[in-house]
Amino acid sequence: MSTPARKAITRIDHDSVLRICANQVVTDLATAIKELVENALDAGATTIDVRIRQHGLGGIEVADNGSGIDPADYATLATKSATSKLRNFEDLDHVTAASFGFRGEALASLCALGNVSVVTCTAAQGPRGAKLTYDTAGALTSQQPVAARQGTAVTVTNLFEAVPVRHAEFMRNAKREYAKALAMLHQYAVACTLARITLAHVTTKGASESKQIVFATKPAVPDRPKSLTDNLASIAGGAVCKHLQPVAFESTATSVAITGVLTLGPGRSGTDFQFIFLNGRPVDLPKLSRAINAGYRELYPSGNPIFALNLTVMPGDFDVNVTPDKRTVMLVNEAKVLEEFRTYLQEFYAPTSTTFDAPPLA
Ligand code: ADP
Ligand code: MG
Repeated sequence: MSTPARKAITRIDHDSVLRICANQVVTDLATAIKELVENALDAGATTIDVRIRQHGLGGIEVADNGSGIDPADYATLATKSATSKLRNFEDLDHVTAASFGFRGEALASLCALGNVSVVTCTAAQGPRGAKLTYDTAGALTSQQPVAARQGTAVTVTNLFEAVPVRHAEFMRNAKREYAKALAMLHQYAVACTLARITLAHVTTKGASESKQIVFATKPAVPDRPKSLTDNLASIAGGAVCKHLQPVAFESTATSVAITGVLTLGPGRSGTDFQFIFLNGRPVDLPKLSRAINAGYRELYPSGNPIFALNLTVMPGDFDVNVTPDKRTVMLVNEAKVLEEFRTYLQEFYAPTSTTFDAPPLA
């Protein structure tokens, strides 16, 4: 075999690095919207209005009534690794408990993948805010005064046009991508007991525009969190929640608690309304989901339960910094928690089980 010619090692130019790395945080329409919703929640918003145009191909907008962005931060807002939430690695435990974001990657990634504009206004500035635009490297390119209410609205258009293969995929599968975004938004809509989340889908035909409200959770009353069932009813309809029963589990061997609601009765054909949160953050814990579905099926062999369960876990007993989307979590003592929770599930389903399996009366 011939020896390949030596190629000198050189640095990739900055814009290309941004485009390559942006793919790690914003992988599709769903993660783009998720990052914006998390920013709104981190800004203390109690109302978050999401607007998706033409299944995302026409752009997305996430508008919140949170803190707004301080003018001193306009220039750095969208630069890579610029965040107001984390200073160093030692802060991580505290930050993952207090906020959804901490890497300072989302806005930088969105700038690298589409066209980003921001309208924002703080309480001190109101009612005069600013409209900001950024270039692909996340540098501020324009700033204009605009009338605005307190909060922030981020608009992204031409998503993925900067990465042609991804964009072609997005165009081909727009409806599927939209469905994934909807499923992801459902998770936040159910998890957020202190915020109202709405989703509108806007379609255009010629010059006319039509807006469909896909879902809207109830407004949040200050200091009175909504229940997970309230939020489930808003996205799935009240009938679906008829058989929900409260779950209150406390692990004896660890300090993990699991609370929420779970179906005790006939289920659904799909697994579309199954939600797990860790300290209020939507996460994937596949072993826990499997345990719940298996426990349910012992009693109801066909169908799937609905559940919205929140794990309360002490800082230091979990790590959400495992994958860029922060959905895969590492839970210390997961096996122990599962073992105990399986026993809890057996008791949870036991009273019904006896009535069901009881021999017919003579
Ligand atoms: P991260 O959330 O990890 O800090 P982002 O790129 O998502 O990184 O956001 C960068 C910074 O921009 C945030 O730390 C925050 O200070 C500010 N920011 C982004 N979105 C909003 C918003 N909706 N309201 C207020 N501030 C925001
Ligand atoms: Mg963020």
